[in-house]
Amino acid sequence: MRKNIVAGNWKMNTTVPEGVQLAKEVKDAVAQVADLKCDVVVGVPFTHLTAVKSVLEGGKVLLSAENCADHEKGAYTGEVSAPMVASTGADYAILGHSERRGYYNETIEMLKTKVDLALAAGLKVIFCCGESLDERKSGMYFEIIKEEIMGSLFHLDADAFANIVIAYEPIWAIGTGETATADQAEEIHAFIRKLIADKYGAQVADDTTILYGGSCKPSNAAELFAKPDIDGGLIGGASLKAADFLGIVTAF
Ligand code: PEP
Repeated sequence: MRKNIVAGNWKMNTTVPEGVQLAKEVKDAVAQVADLKCDVVVGVPFTHLTAVKSVLEGGKVLLSAENCADHEKGAYTGEVSAPMVASTGADYAILGHSERRGYYNETIEMLKTKVDLALAAGLKVIFCCGESLDERKSGMYFEIIKEEIMGSLFHLDADAFANIVIAYEPIWAIGTGETATADQAEEIHAFIRKLIADKYGAQVADDTTILYGGSCKPSNAAELFAKPDIDGGLIGGASLKAADFLGIVTAF
């Protein structure tokens, strides 16, 4: 059964005490929602995972890292491996965010390795894909998204693929205040679901959660989430205030 998910991506924001406070607020706010219609996840910096996990204990909110290394262990100073992330009790890793692809040169091949390591460590993956403004204008965006998904995910068998959540995040909409219209987002989500159906069959495609990310906020979430192939959101800026994040969680 396909799940609705609203996941926050805090990026490189909050100190540990600030993050603990925000996690408490999110946990308490979500606990008040009588008829919760989605899973709620907070994606936090590596430094925050253990402390935030303690805060979330006994509540409904799940925990994600924002990345993991492309090696399992060893002499990779400063890196954090998937087994390390899993050992904090985290449930998910966000992989392939456009900021990681863009600023840290993460390639399709590298992300394939990260996906494998994350799944092997028992994490679920929120896998981001999406086109730049130039790619959208050139009309190449279907090809870009197809390459990203096929190249990093389609080596998985159907059982492994069941642990993948896809987040469509048009780069031109991330942190810009410019949101894809619900129709623009739905067009891509339906395209992604068709790709999955062609590879894994209709049932797997129907069961896969596909999130929208890019300036999603309480004022536009309901319209986006009403579309048949949009199963929730990956939320950047609006996940840093518990009230805004809750406004999106309750938009279904
Ligand atoms: C993101 O970075 O994943 C994101 C969607 O950011 P924002 O909501 O701030 O556009």
